[in-house]
Amino acid sequence: MKNKIHRYLLVLILMGTVTVGENCLLSAAEAKQQTEWKAVAASVVITPEKDMWMAGYAARTEPSKGKVHDLYAKLLILEDSRGKKLVMITTDLIGITPALRDPIAARLEEDFQIPAAALLMNASHTHCGPELREKKASRRGLGGDRGAQARVYTQELVRKLVAAIGEALPQLEPAVLKYSYGRAGFSMNRRLPTENGVINSPHPQGPVDQRVPVLMVERPDSSLMAVLFGYACHNTTLSFYQFCGDYAGYAQEYLQADHPGTVAMFMMGCGGDQNPYPRRTLDLAKQHGRALANAVETAISVKQPRLIHGPLGVAMGDVELEFATPPTKAELLRQKDSGNKYEVSHATRLLEQLEERGGIQTEYAFPLQVVQFGKDLTLVAVCGETVVDYSHRFQKELKSGHGAGETDPIVWVAGYSNHVFGYLPSLRVLKEGGYEGARAMIYSSYPGPFKESVEERVAAKVHQLTEQARREALGD
Ligand SMILES: [Zn+2]
Repeated sequence: MKNKIHRYLLVLILMGTVTVGENCLLSAAEAKQQTEWKAVAASVVITPEKDMWMAGYAARTEPSKGKVHDLYAKLLILEDSRGKKLVMITTDLIGITPALRDPIAARLEEDFQIPAAALLMNASHTHCGPELREKKASRRGLGGDRGAQARVYTQELVRKLVAAIGEALPQLEPAVLKYSYGRAGFSMNRRLPTENGVINSPHPQGPVDQRVPVLMVERPDSSLMAVLFGYACHNTTLSFYQFCGDYAGYAQEYLQADHPGTVAMFMMGCGGDQNPYPRRTLDLAKQHGRALANAVETAISVKQPRLIHGPLGVAMGDVELEFATPPTKAELLRQKDSGNKYEVSHATRLLEQLEERGGIQTEYAFPLQVVQFGKDLTLVAVCGETVVDYSHRFQKELKSGHGAGETDPIVWVAGYSNHVFGYLPSLRVLKEGGYEGARAMIYSSYPGPFKESVEERVAAKVHQLTEQARREALGD
């Protein structure tokens, strides 16, 4: 019914006979803008039906115990005037795995003829969600087959998301895209330099990115269909045993309550080295959620947002990243006797690899993606737990404009996209060491820290993809 009304309105708009709102007669240019995009948004509950192993803190000792609220995946599909589509899925999850993304990308191509490069998946990195990484779940799970639980959960999630895409596609309706931004101040750099190296503690002088980029998707009657917003900060206010979206879950919940009929979507930024402070209580997660929702409201209320035109260009490709020379067999055997359960477990995994493959793999390919919206917006989606330096670097190098009246495209850098394999340090963070630079690798199956080539390799690939996406969008 709503679709029919919108289509009818559109016909009247094109005939130049309809007034929208109180007394504003649409000009031909405005009518063109209104027909430039089509969009549809949807919301899918993804809370596990049974208690299962939770992701995020290695020190967890037992599975979840119910929920404080539901976890969601949010879907936004955009189509430009040439019929090119972009499918964005944001999730209240720890990360995106190949086991989750790859089958969805394959179904997009097979069932809907949408290229895999046009699928952008992002994880809020809530630490109160299910563990969907099969190996991690089976390693940590005490009792029961936690690995199988993670596998079944992922398969069910794929099924739900493919079904949601199938249901949404026929419902694309005319839309207007606008961009503005607010700010929120609860993130803080968490890498404090001390005499004994960098420790995980609030670091007020450390770099942050407190901008809250907001993409508003409006129906032709100016009502809000969807609002996509970002923030660069770990969803780690909480560390308990109930499913919860943390501050990002609350921000989405508050925005949807205050804008009925809107799908609010959180896109994690380059928050790999950022924590919300203060933390550790449910009330604080709600407060941070309200602060973020308020920043989004501020962006929505800006009188002259930047109109985002098409057409779309999408480019995606892998970057080959090198890990430092791995420990020798003798060193791994010593590590296995260290008595530290994380060291033991890491050494065991690498020794298994050595046994099975005759060597330890030191190069891995990870995905990077760039979406270009006409001359107006460049959305860079970086893999891994991306640290804040990448946001600042790409804002500068890709020449970010910000508001209305500026000619450079806005540059929006999302982290935690498409494959969240572990931390993606910048060269600075790698050299400084500490958790994000080196130590966190102990929880993964990767051999150790990256080589110093990491940042330049990521940057070179992002530049190449940006050129490709901009060429595709702008044809020059
Ligand atoms: Zn993290």
